[in-house]
Amino acid sequence: MFRSLLSCTTLALLASCSHRSMPVQSYTVEPGVSQTLAQARRQTISAPAYQLSFDIPVQKRDPIPATETITFDWKPTTDPLLIDFKESRDHLHRLTVNGDTAAIVFANEHIRIEPARLKAGRNQVTIHFTAGNLSLNRNDDYLYTLLVPDRARTVFPCFDQPDLKATFELTLTVPENWVAIGNAPAQAPTTVGNRTTIRFAPSDVIPTYLFSFVAGQFTVVTETPDKRPMTLLHRETDPVKLKLSQDSLFSLHAGALRFLEDYTQRPYPFTKFDFAVIPDFQYGGMEHVGAIDYKASALFLDNGATRDQKLARASVIAHETAHMWFGDLVTMRWFNDVWLKEVFANFMADKVTAITMPEVNNDLKFVIDHLPAAYAVDRTEGANPIGQPLTNLQEAGSLYGGIIYHKAPIMMRQLEALIGADALRDGLREYIRTYAFGNATWNDLITILDKRTPADLVTWNKVWVEQTGRPVVSYQLTQQGGRIGKLTVTQLGEDGSERVWPQSFKLALVYPDRTETLPVSLTSAQVNVPEAAGKDMPLFVALNSDGRGYGRFSVDTTMLDRLAMLTDPVSRAASYINLYENMLAGQAVRPARLATIYRSLLATETEELNLRLLTGQLSDLVWNFTRPADRLALAGQVEQASWQAMEQATTNGPSSPGPSSPGPSSPGPSSPGLKKVLFRLYQSVALTPDAQQRLYQIWDKQQAPTGVTLTEDDYTALALALAVRDYPAPDILTRQLARIKNPDRQKRLQFMMPALSSDVATRNQFFASLADEKNREHEAWVTAALGYLHHPLRAATSATYLPKSLDLLVDIQRTGDIFFPESWLRATLSGYQTPDVAQLIRRFLTDRPNYNARLRNKLLQAADNPFRASRLLY
Ligand SMILES: [Zn+2]
Repeated sequence: MFRSLLSCTTLALLASCSHRSMPVQSYTVEPGVSQTLAQARRQTISAPAYQLSFDIPVQKRDPIPATETITFDWKPTTDPLLIDFKESRDHLHRLTVNGDTAAIVFANEHIRIEPARLKAGRNQVTIHFTAGNLSLNRNDDYLYTLLVPDRARTVFPCFDQPDLKATFELTLTVPENWVAIGNAPAQAPTTVGNRTTIRFAPSDVIPTYLFSFVAGQFTVVTETPDKRPMTLLHRETDPVKLKLSQDSLFSLHAGALRFLEDYTQRPYPFTKFDFAVIPDFQYGGMEHVGAIDYKASALFLDNGATRDQKLARASVIAHETAHMWFGDLVTMRWFNDVWLKEVFANFMADKVTAITMPEVNNDLKFVIDHLPAAYAVDRTEGANPIGQPLTNLQEAGSLYGGIIYHKAPIMMRQLEALIGADALRDGLREYIRTYAFGNATWNDLITILDKRTPADLVTWNKVWVEQTGRPVVSYQLTQQGGRIGKLTVTQLGEDGSERVWPQSFKLALVYPDRTETLPVSLTSAQVNVPEAAGKDMPLFVALNSDGRGYGRFSVDTTMLDRLAMLTDPVSRAASYINLYENMLAGQAVRPARLATIYRSLLATETEELNLRLLTGQLSDLVWNFTRPADRLALAGQVEQASWQAMEQATTNGPSSPGPSSPGPSSPGPSSPGLKKVLFRLYQSVALTPDAQQRLYQIWDKQQAPTGVTLTEDDYTALALALAVRDYPAPDILTRQLARIKNPDRQKRLQFMMPALSSDVATRNQFFASLADEKNREHEAWVTAALGYLHHPLRAATSATYLPKSLDLLVDIQRTGDIFFPESWLRATLSGYQTPDVAQLIRRFLTDRPNYNARLRNKLLQAADNPFRASRLLY
């Protein structure tokens, strides 16, 4: 490896926090984009503009010739100019600087241009190169860019940092029957022979990570909701999905835009608004300016869709649309603040879905979306704080995860409660106004908010944003003459520390005939709840009954058999989550007891979102927190209870409509959803021969249980469930493959089939093939296949893959997209429970004391299930 030394006065300046000239200091150009490089470049470069053209061949393996011209203002300095390009040297063909041909000097992912070739003011660098394929997602008849957080530099040379925003003028030459969208409007395409050239207007000013195009064989649909033309690109072929989904996609976007324009008091800030729906897109969505990308399965729903799926779709659309203001218009200065754009996208999405899906209980949705996912990371040994330092952008991918997506919105809702909804909204308007088309940090926002509240935001910020973890919250109740004397609530860090998470939430006093809720303002280690004094002694107390609090709340064991007495669905959801967290901590309830309690609730929990939560936990209890020897008996009980509950919902509707049920009589609109959720639980836990045979009959005859709608995707999932159980019927997967009509979904199943083979050698071969980067291209397929490969029923043979799976992690982070290391680990490890697997993971880390700290954390997060299961069960 070649290391280039160069001098950089700016670095010395930054190191000393001074802005006067300092002696010249040397440093090594490191790979990636270091924070020092970014800060130095920010001092000398401004107003960059890119002209880019890509010549995309028919064959996906053929190289993509490309040219670009970067124009920028430059402030004279003795430092060379570094342009980022993460590819091999042979991808660079010709370099011209201000009209003169220059030798290409390239090392450690940077093209180096001597200052002598540059001039004060505007400069122009032209590069002929072969585009890097890593983030072009090339398929046979389409491709798309996905460049967040630092992958623009893998495709083309650029200043890949979020605070050098630029305009992009793109030209694509593609096979003649292709279409394309980018960040800016396209002019009419021209076709010569079998090649079509599409020129786009210069884009708005955007950061490199939002530069985007999608090109290929797509169906183009245009609608004009609220008089705003929008184009949708998709590859869906199922007429039912198209009929049921297409118009909703446009109207959901329009609703989100209306809300955000009003909330921010700033009209949609960019030139146009289009979106593309891509099969197996890596994330739910990505907020490219003017050209949002979505995962097809999240957007195109069919008549079997549950309310949960519709809600998730409305949420992802609102989330990406909110990013147009939060992230795209105002961008974080550096990716350490990436959580800021994510928290506002989620925060706004929750407000938008409250309007676009008014029938949904928004508080309930918040609790179910965020609490379990935040706890899933924050309770682990690998927990990370919301705010994390970042010295090199190449590490930015590892910042993403449950904390920034789920703890941050909880924290933000607490902040809103602390300073008031109007003050927060006004502060955000000022923030958008002040930093539009520019960059801002979390501190910039806190400075704006601090003016609007007497609260101590600095201390608040320290515990919520800069530190990890959650408190254990408990209560003490004294009696006086048969009534409540005093009720106090206490918090203590789960790690034993005496930190205080200032927060407010409610607690419920549950009586045989009523429930009373009281507010708790837990601003110190211990507070009194004055309203409680003098009230009747309750049957039990449920802490965090409104789900707004954050922590592990101690459980009154009287509650265990009386959960159905919590009539408010939010209280029930918060209690289910809390019970599960206590079970994991070895407190209040053992896994087997919790499974029995949940089983008894299947017939009475009538809120679909809650039933989804409950059945998910129950399935985890069966597979992850029950020893194999005890599993068949428990599974048999759960099979029976879920089937009965499903049938009951079919014939009678919800057995006892809860307060959230929209209709007073009849099954009500949620009934088909309930049945489907219960059927999924049945499918997930089916272990007895009878249950397996029943599933086979349903799949074989394509005959769903009465009242349950099963779609092609559902039958594929059913076929996979049978295959992982080695159900003794020939060719289940081959037959399913023949039934699938959509070619993208056929390819997915084809890829997964060897991972589900009953033949160990075939599975071994599949796993071995994943060592080759090429076979991991479709990360969503790999993750799904790994889930089956490491299914608890396969644990005995698949545990042998674990050492190699961990060894591959560094490579997976290097070559994969940002969520891949985590999804790889979770799909691999979640289903194991024995102490030897827990030890193997610990040994892997102790043998590597210098292992990448962020990957270590990801591993410790994903290993939480096996760690806890081995402690609880063995
Ligand atoms: Zn986002």
